[in-house]
Amino acid sequence: MLKEVGLGIGLALVLFLGVAGYDITPVFIIALAGGVLFYLARSRGMLTKNFNTAPMTARPSIGFSDVGGQNTAISELKEALDFIKDQEMIIKLGIRPIKGILLTGPPGTGKTLLAKAAAGYTDSVFVACSGSEFIEMYAGVGAQRVRQLFKTARTNAQKQKKRSALIFIDEIDILGGKRGQNTSHHEYDQTLNQLLVEMDGMKTNDRVQVLVVAATNRVDMLDPALLRPGRFDRHVKVDLPDKTGRLEILRLHFRNKPLADDVILEDIAKETFGFSGAHLESLANEGAILAMREGRTEIKQVHFLEAVDKVMMGEKLDRRPSKDELERVAVHEVGHALLSENIRPGSVSMVTITPRGQALGYMRQVPEDDTYLHTREYLENQIQVLLAGSIAEELILGGRSTGAGNDFEQAVRTAGQIIRCGMSELGVVDPDILPADLRYRALTGIIKNQEKKVREFLGRVGGVINQMVHILLTEEKISGEYFRSLTKKHIVH
Ligand code: ATP
Repeated sequence: MLKEVGLGIGLALVLFLGVAGYDITPVFIIALAGGVLFYLARSRGMLTKNFNTAPMTARPSIGFSDVGGQNTAISELKEALDFIKDQEMIIKLGIRPIKGILLTGPPGTGKTLLAKAAAGYTDSVFVACSGSEFIEMYAGVGAQRVRQLFKTARTNAQKQKKRSALIFIDEIDILGGKRGQNTSHHEYDQTLNQLLVEMDGMKTNDRVQVLVVAATNRVDMLDPALLRPGRFDRHVKVDLPDKTGRLEILRLHFRNKPLADDVILEDIAKETFGFSGAHLESLANEGAILAMREGRTEIKQVHFLEAVDKVMMGEKLDRRPSKDELERVAVHEVGHALLSENIRPGSVSMVTITPRGQALGYMRQVPEDDTYLHTREYLENQIQVLLAGSIAEELILGGRSTGAGNDFEQAVRTAGQIIRCGMSELGVVDPDILPADLRYRALTGIIKNQEKKVREFLGRVGGVINQMVHILLTEEKISGEYFRSLTKKHIVH
């Protein structure tokens, strides 16, 4: 209303000056330029921002039972939330409310899911946004958006007659990075300052209790002010799931899918070491798509196993390598597989020369039970498997190819790990101050030793390589069982 009155008075004044004979052209030009700027700013969402309010109309239907494999994270989170739920007790005892919870962990592990479940658990409205939504090149816009975010959360809670609101900020490291690092302007710092001001302003007796849940996988990048008591002082680690966790997540994503009798979820969980919840969700989906492409009404184990390859390596490629290249790829992969089987019987899950993603062919191993500590022997065995592809090429085809580049990089990294962890002949060393020639000699020493062992072994079983290559070239892929039935008399343990 005030705005309209001001505008009317302004217009009347300009008209009066015009009638009185003053030159009012500059006033028109300034008003026009201001109007254009205002329109542009508005159309680009600089002045107002619609945060993700969709889930606010109803309580999010996601609960903690929809989050698999994160039992520790869930119980830590619940502990903090239980504390918030008991408002009367908090006020009575004069306890400072928890204002922020930081979820840290790799992408796709369920941080957003946990935040939604937390909103449901505390009967709060849920407002979600991402750190990148606050970053604009214009000064003050980010800070304005932070103010608006908190205001939106509070008004929505009031509209829905809720006592609390949960604000979820994904990728908080974008908005909450260490201050003073962006030298070009202070926009980032102002935005972060505003977030700190809002959090400091949150009181126990506020009509709407606000809880900020933020997610990041770069907690080291965050400004220390964000992490101090009274702000994000509760940290919940959301890690990649272990085997039992993967099984739980698979059960959740398979519950609405028609599974054939041959599907063994435990085996799929075993094959998917290192997969996040998002990978497992994608695997369930891809398995169903493969079954649909074959016109089936049920999803079989083979579909899921192929989906593991797809999620891990990427889509199958139409590109057909030449006959010579195919043979080389086959020799290379058989080399890897023979060494893998020799070191760990039963470890080959599949060998194929079907190109997928970046790879022309690949050998998939059955992962071992989840292990987090490795001995020198284990790491050396890994190096042997990595080197075996190119050494097989050398023995059978008389030379190596560029196909082994990645294998070598990984082998060198693994050898570096042996040195870094004090497991080499150098003993415990600081790799940063280790003279380059010493490091070089230690690295090549480790690699050459393993190379020798691989060459001896493959030399002994050379005949079987040709036989397997022939089968691979006609059948394109060999399953682990078939591989073992063909090689069992050559590999004696
Ligand atoms: P980012 O860090 O990339 O934002 P995030 O950790 O927030 O990822 P979510 O967005 O919660 O991950 O997960 C993406 C999808 O992956 C979910 O919608 C869900 O389908 C699946 N998912 C991830 N983790 C889990 C889990 N622990 N249990 C069940 N499903 C999961």
